Amino acid sequence: MRDGFRLYDSHAHLGVSLHSGRVHTLDALLRDMDRHGVDRSLLLPFPVVEDYRATHDEIARAVRAHSDRLAGAASLYPFIPEAEFRQEVRRCAEELGFRALKLQPQYQALNPISSRSDFFFATALEFGLPVICHTGAGAPFALPSLFILPARKFPELRFVLAHAGGGLYAAEAAVAATVCPNIYVELSWLAPHQVRMVLEHVPASRLMIGSDLPDNLEAEFSKILGLDLPREAKQDILWNTAAAVFDATTS
Ligand SMILES: [Zn+2]
Repeated sequence: MRDGFRLYDSHAHLGVSLHSGRVHTLDALLRDMDRHGVDRSLLLPFPVVEDYRATHDEIARAVRAHSDRLAGAASLYPFIPEAEFRQEVRRCAEELGFRALKLQPQYQALNPISSRSDFFFATALEFGLPVICHTGAGAPFALPSLFILPARKFPELRFVLAHAGGGLYAAEAAVAATVCPNIYVELSWLAPHQVRMVLEHVPASRLMIGSDLPDNLEAEFSKILGLDLPREAKQDILWNTAAAVFDATTS
């Protein structure tokens, strides 16, 4: 809670990242949440991990121990055998209670408009998981506009464009959300003026904020708190949208 606002970090990573060497522990995460007034965080695996099942188990243990403050998301390499992929997504949704499936096209080079990607999105829909799609670095497959076609093909599936195109493609993220009502935009990595640009096109009820890295927590939340916006719009970005997308039954 900050300035009377509930804060939902919709993009936090837990575990060990093989590509960057980052190590995010549960203790440090909870300490950072307390320090910055974050009420709830969605925990995502890093895109390159030693063992995706063990990473999902680690996230599940954290969520079980702090279910009021933490929720979990799944992420795994989309080119393993389809039966194995589907089985792990089912386990994450039904046994571990996860709330989302993440695609990171920079390290999981799945072309969102290829027929091969249908399997990914259909599996998320089958198990009732919204998809979080990393956008920005990793273009062309991480371009926000590439999610327009699957969002139209799967109108019941909710798509969260993480990092809103990462600054460079922020306008594209705004366009994608404008043409697809099931596309949501997560605003990390944008400068405040780019957040304002997105807000000119996309209602706050489809915007959310995440930290991605603990070092960025303060900057990401204060850039929203500092916007000249009605309180209700700020609360949508800071909490309501993420709670509605990921925690519909508990918000
Ligand atoms: Zn991330």
